[in-house]
Amino acid sequence: MPRRLLNPAVLLGVAIIALCWSEVAYQLHSDYTETIDLAVERGDTMARLFEKDTIQLLKGIDTTTLLLRQAYENDAENFDLVKTARQSGLVGDVATEFAQITADGYLIQTTSGQLAAPIYVGDRKHFIAQLNNPKDELFIGDPVFLRSTGKYSIPVARRLRAPDGRFAGIITGQVNPLFAEQFSQTLKLGPDSNISIRGLDGVLRASYGFVKPPEQQTAVMKEAMAHARDGHFWGGGAADGVTRLVSYRTLTDFPLVITIGEGEEHIFADFRHHFLIYFLIAAALTLVTAMFVAIIMQRQLALERTNSRLETVIGQFDTALSQISQGITMYDGDHKLVVWNDRFEKIYGFPPGLITVGRPFLEILAYQIKTGNIDQAPDRYLAMRMERLLKDRSYSAQHVLTNGRTVAVFNHALENGGWVSTHEDITDRKNSETRIEQLAHFDTLTGLANRNLFKERVDETLARYRQHRGGFAVFLLDLDKFKGVNDTLGHQSGDLLLKDVANRIKTAIRDVDLAARLGGDEFAVLLQASEGGLRERSEVLAARLIEAVSAPYEIDGHPVVVGCSIGIALIPEHGERIDEVLRNADLALYKSKNAGRNCFHTYSTKMKAEADQRSALEIDLREAIWGDQLDVHYQPVIELDTGRVVSVEALARWNHKTKGPIPPSEFIPVAEDAGLIVELGNWIMLKTCHDAMRMPKDIKVAVNLSPVQFAKSNVVEAAMFATAESGLATERLELEITEGVLLEESEQNLATLRQLKDMGVSIALDDFGVGFSSLAYLTVFPFDKVKIDKSFIKRLDRPETSAVIASIVQLTTSLNRSTVAEGIETQDQLDRVRALGLKFGQGYLFSKPVPANELKFESVSRGDAKSNAA
Ligand code: C2E
Ligand code: CA
Ligand code: CA
Repeated sequence: MPRRLLNPAVLLGVAIIALCWSEVAYQLHSDYTETIDLAVERGDTMARLFEKDTIQLLKGIDTTTLLLRQAYENDAENFDLVKTARQSGLVGDVATEFAQITADGYLIQTTSGQLAAPIYVGDRKHFIAQLNNPKDELFIGDPVFLRSTGKYSIPVARRLRAPDGRFAGIITGQVNPLFAEQFSQTLKLGPDSNISIRGLDGVLRASYGFVKPPEQQTAVMKEAMAHARDGHFWGGGAADGVTRLVSYRTLTDFPLVITIGEGEEHIFADFRHHFLIYFLIAAALTLVTAMFVAIIMQRQLALERTNSRLETVIGQFDTALSQISQGITMYDGDHKLVVWNDRFEKIYGFPPGLITVGRPFLEILAYQIKTGNIDQAPDRYLAMRMERLLKDRSYSAQHVLTNGRTVAVFNHALENGGWVSTHEDITDRKNSETRIEQLAHFDTLTGLANRNLFKERVDETLARYRQHRGGFAVFLLDLDKFKGVNDTLGHQSGDLLLKDVANRIKTAIRDVDLAARLGGDEFAVLLQASEGGLRERSEVLAARLIEAVSAPYEIDGHPVVVGCSIGIALIPEHGERIDEVLRNADLALYKSKNAGRNCFHTYSTKMKAEADQRSALEIDLREAIWGDQLDVHYQPVIELDTGRVVSVEALARWNHKTKGPIPPSEFIPVAEDAGLIVELGNWIMLKTCHDAMRMPKDIKVAVNLSPVQFAKSNVVEAAMFATAESGLATERLELEITEGVLLEESEQNLATLRQLKDMGVSIALDDFGVGFSSLAYLTVFPFDKVKIDKSFIKRLDRPETSAVIASIVQLTTSLNRSTVAEGIETQDQLDRVRALGLKFGQGYLFSKPVPANELKFESVSRGDAKSNAA
């Protein structure tokens, strides 16, 4: 706001108004003083005139009195006053009467008429005054009521002198006090004016224009007169309230003071008039100036507002330009630079001073060519640009700069023949596109192709096959025991292992072939067509891959061994559609996994049939579980020294409604695959516990646990439930697990095993010696029993087998674990087993698995052993 008041227009306006009013003030002031000066001067002039008149009048009367005195003094005896006065011709309006008063105070002659007798007036003031005054001077008395004329008059008197100089009486004249009125009429005084004549004694002699003249002098007048004989003062009329400028003069020849008062209003009438006019003019001028200022201000404000709006817009435009992540340029019809932003300069790294308003496009271009960002002759380049702009109105292009950045330029033609361009550094975008492409198609850990890219390539190869008829193969690889590595060494080691595996696969294949990681520990290879039989080449490669992958690794200083299962599908033999090809390779892989791993299988139609059968079986198995088609048989375990039955192993049996008995080696994997194993396993455990309740109390029951069941359910809970529900002592329950349980989720599984053991349940390690058997497993957990796999018993005649069993027995004995030989079918095997120091045995030699009610618990001698066999 103060800033606004400092505005030049306002200042000018204020100056004009101030000047105007000060001029008015000055004018009025001088007018005022002039008015007063004039009034004073006029009052003075009038006072002089009045004085002159008064003196003249009095002198005239005095002349008569002197004339009359002369006549008296010439001949006192014969003095005829009336005659002499008439001769002088002076008796009239002003001098109303002349008279002679004797020395003893008697009025003896008067111009007013014949006196019957002398009248005594010796008491009168003018008589007394002259009687006592030795000087010869005119006495002017106070107005008195004249008995002779019946009118007011002012007596004047001169003393008469006898020849010897004595007092001889007086000659009096009577002055009509109305002379003042006559005087005022001759002067044409203003309406409120008044005049007065006073003696030096202050007493009023004559007046005109007063409502009620003060008899005595007023205080103001007295004070003024104390200063000067003549002068003026301002006096307020006590009777009428009118202030007047009063001019006064003391007469020179007579003891009189005359006053002329002029009414204030009259004096200032003109001034007031001027004042009003000046005021109106000044006010009008002020108004007009103010209006002008207001108009100018308004215009300025509007201008300012427009300017600031414009500034804001320009500012916003600038900010917008600088904020834009793209470079922007605009060239006019003469191909000169008009608009650009910082970004534009930054993108191309122009030297300072090059980019300025009006810089011709060709000069900027010349720099670009010099630095190598553009490699074309400038004229050609410009001509091409104009041609394209003319034709298409807009077009875009990409430039790879010498600094390696890529810039996308979009040009758009303008009406005036110029153009607007945007310049965008798309390097990062391109890089991230590449990166996204990488993520979409490659496995981040191993750098191999991912599932998507693999499928894309298989699809492409299939399409090519349809045109060129070149066969190819798809391999699916699955690592064995990978989870164990992950668990025991940690995920980071697992990742390192996967990388190593990927590298080995990559080295094993040719460049034309593709290796992929499909996820987890699943890999795949696409083997492209080439010379030679496809099947043979595939099998050679598969063997090479298994050899490469299963060779020992060293991860973080730990020796690690993993196996590898492979499934192969050949194209076109095993399908011409991608889903078909992949499914068949998967079936082959399934087969390899089931076949004990570290092997490969090429798809065959039999696998499809098996798979179909499996899925049919799966449906039937579901039904069987609900429909009571399942049963449990028991096979005793014998203490070899005594032939006593120590425990029985529960083995599931399925009597299929149409297919007859189906071995557990067939339906257990189906149950595992179909997620039925938990239900099935729990049912078997419960059934076994119930059956055990009807067996001798010293007989234990052993239940097989699938690794899948172990992984997918809470085995501790199941065991608790089964024993509690049946009432079986937990000490009579034994669970058989395989190494698979120790392989996967080992830590957690070991904890579960410990819990079971704490409950009193004993744990047996089943099928020991197959798979990856390592003696180390025996020390991992305090198993109650180790069951040596029947394949060993079958090969007992071989010396190396005996040696292995001997060392196992040695170890288990030292660890205080009992060892069981499975699958003893012959006396010879039994003998060998016993010779090796094994204490327990199981097999057809003693008894086949039988229903619970067919079990015989009395000791079986070697000879009797066959009696239980079917
Ligand atoms: P396993 O646990 O090793 O069971 C012993 C297998 O050897 C049984 O086969 C049994 O009948 C067979 N066997 C016993 N003595 C002899 C013999 O002298 N000679 C020969 N050749 N075989 C003998 P089975 O009953 O066919 O069971 C096969 C496998 O199925 C079992 O091997 C076990 O791994 C699994 N299995 C059976 N029942 C169950 C079950 O209830 N649950 C689970 N999870 N697996 C089961
Ligand atoms: Ca078993
Ligand atoms: Ca076994």
